[in-house]
Order: sequence, then structure tokens, then C-alpha cells
Amino acid sequence: MTFDYDLFVIGGGSGGVRAARVAAATGAKVALAEEYRMGGTCVIRGCVPKKLMVFASGYSEMFDDARAYGWDLTDGPFDWTRFRTKLHAELDRLEGIYRKLLDGSDVEIFDTRATVKDPHTVTTADGRDITAKHILVATGGRPVVPDMPGAEHGITSNDIFLLDQMPKSILIVGGGYIASEFAGILNGLGVAVTQFYRGAQILRGFDDEARGLVAEGMREKGVDLHLGTNIVEMEKRDGGIWVKATNGNEAIYDQVMFATGRAPNTDGMGLEDAGVELGRQGQIVVDDYSQTKVPSIYAIGDVTNRVQLTPVAIREGMAFVETVFKGNPTKVDHELIPSAVFTQPELGTVGLTEEQAREIEPVEVYCTSFKPMNHAFAGRSDRVLMKLVVSVASRKVLGCHIVADHAGEMIQLAGIAVKMGATKEDFDRTVAVHPTMAEELVTMKEPMRTA
Ligand code: NDP
Repeated sequence: MTFDYDLFVIGGGSGGVRAARVAAATGAKVALAEEYRMGGTCVIRGCVPKKLMVFASGYSEMFDDARAYGWDLTDGPFDWTRFRTKLHAELDRLEGIYRKLLDGSDVEIFDTRATVKDPHTVTTADGRDITAKHILVATGGRPVVPDMPGAEHGITSNDIFLLDQMPKSILIVGGGYIASEFAGILNGLGVAVTQFYRGAQILRGFDDEARGLVAEGMREKGVDLHLGTNIVEMEKRDGGIWVKATNGNEAIYDQVMFATGRAPNTDGMGLEDAGVELGRQGQIVVDDYSQTKVPSIYAIGDVTNRVQLTPVAIREGMAFVETVFKGNPTKVDHELIPSAVFTQPELGTVGLTEEQAREIEPVEVYCTSFKPMNHAFAGRSDRVLMKLVVSVASRKVLGCHIVADHAGEMIQLAGIAVKMGATKEDFDRTVAVHPTMAEELVTMKEPMRTA
């Protein structure tokens, strides 16, 4: 049987674009359909614009810091419109690069929605059927909003980059990555931020000590964080949004932002009719090689709800090409993935939390929390955390958790050592880089506790 293409990729995000390009480089005939903008969540409405907003927001503290270091500066207001114009110009530029890379790789682009008709056919929005030997679904995910009265008045992280003006006040609902990152960003940009999280502490799943310090730091910087609190109902009132909380409090905010999780984009894709199995959250069920129940259909990235991180989607895309187009079956390694949460303060983490490790085996915990010299000199009270969770039996560093400026940069490097199976003694044998914050990772002599 002959097909129009060897591979048809649905979704032009980080995973889909990488898989398409690398597959095309093997000589395969490849097409890719994207219904919105090339680059997907990460480039258009996620990691990239978010990080630029983290940078923008960080300047608010720098005025004070600069004065403490002897500079003669006066504070000025943040001009959202000026920043937003530049931000969108940058996103346009990046989208252009993604397109050029696909063009340069001879991947045919369809600027349209595509759905799956059968194991070897996709249908584009204009009703055209296109056949392919393999179909790769990389359609990502979207924010979900709780089902409650007035929820339609709220916004999500998708909308934040498009706002005409910065709100004076905002309520952020949720305690995950997105809620906590935007609480810090908007607080830094001068918005009065209230955050509701229904659980006992934000950033569930991260190391308890680290999440505690992040929450403390966020509060010190001005985020009004309410734990054990959720939103009951909301409605438009007095030019803002009136909100009633589970603790009985009522307040009016300019905006309410839901960051209450994300759902895989599988609705109306024709996947189940084609024989693809979906999980309880609507995610595509795949095996270790990203293959679905239908042998010719694969899926990678957030739509599979494995680990929702851009570099993981890219790796899944590369492993798919290795497996299907290079004859080298390759499983994706989802172990020991380093990651950063761009909260203020920032959190970097790799491996097991203290709580997880203690469940598995006896551990030693090496930990230090201190005021770094740059903040101490500026008169800031922020503390940083450097923490290693070490196996008593193997001496391996099972987890590393850092709360500090640039924790994301540090954890990338510590992640190599942890991934290699470095022991505490390997860390100790490494000479400290002085004076830095990260040197504490190699100079902690006595465990803080054993468990
Ligand atoms: P998360 O799953 O991290 O957080 C969702 C939050 O919403 C949780 O605090 C959850 O509470 C809460 N929640 C869920 N439902 C409700 C509800 N009905 N009412 C109130 N609260 C609710 O999702 P995010 O959307 O923040 O992020 C999605 C994924 O994107 C992350 O898991 C991450 O993988 C990725 N991401 C990564 C980033 C990075 O690498 N820096 C940045 C941003 C996103 P509970 O804990 O009680 O379930």
C-alpha cells in the first residue's frame, strides 16, 4: 500500500516539530499540521513568555538592591504595554524560526486542524483525507477550569500574555507550577496578588522543606497566600470579580486566574473511533516506545500525560524517530528528570524528595539554609536552601533540592552528577567554587538528620 506520507504529525509544539524534523532528516516524507501557532504551548503561551515575564518582574527588587550597593536610582513604574509589544515581537520571531526549521527540513506544513480518521488517515479541517504510514499525535494540553458558578469570568495562563492592561489586583487559584510561578511574576510587576490553594502547602509532590521555603519567600515578597482555601463562587460586580472563599471571606479582584491543572487535547480527535485507547483524564495511553494500541499511531508530549515538560516531549519525539525510522527501538528514560519551578524564590530539583526516599530506604539528609551574601549585603531577608538526600546503604545522592536565585541553572549541573549515580563522597571530593551559593552542595559535612 502506498501512502501520501511516511509520517503525519499532528501538533506543532516542541515535541511534534522535533520529531517531524528528525524523521525528515532520515529521508522520510513528512507532513505536520498545526491549527494555531507553530511552537505550541512552550513557545507561544508557556515556558518562553513566562520566563521573560519572570525576568521582567525580577527588576522590581533590583531597584532596592542597587541602592543598597551604592547606586543612585529612583523607582519607576512598569509599562506593561511596552513590555507586551516586545514580548510578542519575540514570540513572532521564535515562531518564524520554528517554521523555517520545518521548511528547511522539507517538512510540509498544514496550517489547519487535523483529526484521525483511521489508523493511516488524517482529515484536515477542510475535509481533505491524507494518508500516512505512521501518525504521530503531539497535540499537547490545555488549562482546565473548575466547574463552579461564575468560572467563566476567570482567565487562565493562556490569557495572561494577551491582557490589555495589568490588573491592580488578582486572585490566583491553585498551588501547582503555574499558579505559584504567576503569583511571583505578577507580584513582582506590582499587582496585588492573592493566591488560594486548597491543600496544606503549595507545590505538592516537591520536597516538603523546599516547598515550605518557597512559600515563605513568596509571602515575604508580598504574595497573600491562603492555604486550605478554595473558591466557592464568583460573579462580576462593581467593575471587578466578586469572589466567595471556602473560609467565608468575600473580596473583589480585578481578575481571577485559574491555574488548576491541564487536560490533554484529545477531544474530537477521532482517536477512540480509530482504536486508540484513552485514559481517565483523556490522555493517550502509550507503551514505553510511545506507541498506542493502534500500531501505526504514536503519541508524545503532554497529550500522553507522562511528564508534562518540554524537554521530555522533545526526548519522546527523538526516541520515536529512533524507534520507527532508524530501526533502533528506544525507550524514553523518565528517571531522574531535573526540573525547575520559576517561583520567586526559584526551586530546582532532581531525584527523590526526602519524604519519598524515607519510604524506600534509610537516608541521611544534608541540608543548609542561609542568607546568601548578595542578599545579606542588600539587607534582604531571603534565605536559600541546599539539600541532599543520601542513601545510607549505597551512599548515592538520591535527591538534590535547591531554593535560590538561579536554582534552575544549578540543578541542571547537579542533575548530571545525580543521573550518573554520584555518591555523597563524590560530591565531597569536588572542590568548592568560592564564594558561591552552590559550594554548600560540596561542603556539608554532617547530616542534619537520618531517617
Ligand atoms: P499542576 O498539576 O502542577 O497544579 C494544579 C493545581 O491546581 C494543584 O495545586 C491542584 O491542587 C489545583 N487544583 C486542581 N483542581 C482544582 C480545583 N478544582 N480547585 C482548586 N484547585 C485545584 O498543574 P499546572 O497547571 O500548574 O501545570 C501543569 C503542568 O505543566 C505541570 O505539572 C508541569 O509539569 C508543567 N509546567 C512546568 C513548568 C516548569 O517546568 N517550570 C511551568 C509550568 C507548567 P492539588 O495539589 O490539591 O491537586
